[in-house]
Amino acid sequence: MYGVVVCPRCRRAKGVRATQRTTACSCGATIPVRRSSLRARVERVTELPAAVRTVATAVAGGEREYGALLKPPRRRSAQVHVRVAAAVGSGDRRTKVLAAARGLTAEVIVFTREDFARVLSLLGLGDADAALESLRRENLLVEPRPGYFRVITA
Ligand SMILES: [Zn+2]
Repeated sequence: MYGVVVCPRCRRAKGVRATQRTTACSCGATIPVRRSSLRARVERVTELPAAVRTVATAVAGGEREYGALLKPPRRRSAQVHVRVAAAVGSGDRRTKVLAAARGLTAEVIVFTREDFARVLSLLGLGDADAALESLRRENLLVEPRPGYFRVITA
């Protein structure tokens, strides 16, 4: 039995014999080989190169998606604001403000003051700065990067 492990340091995929305890990566890291850490398993050593390629492609794909989450948000269509505003239910100003911020966070991960102001104006609510400030005072809002906000989801 053979398998494929992924180096925790450099993310390279490597073929191993499933019975070995550890393997050395070409980056110098020691990779533990456990049944649970095998990303793929094959019976014959001849099948190993294809399995390594498959795992390497999957790892690269996953990291592209993760990287996309970390990139600054693109300009978004007005649709997002309309959608978020439409999903906000009834209630007092605080309830609506919080629902708007939660909706934006769910849609775009981090939102700007302009995003927030647009949704509030669609709801007939003004003063986005005061609304952001009140959320911040309640410790419901974080600013992971200057000018970009998200609400804390419990
Ligand atoms: Zn490595």
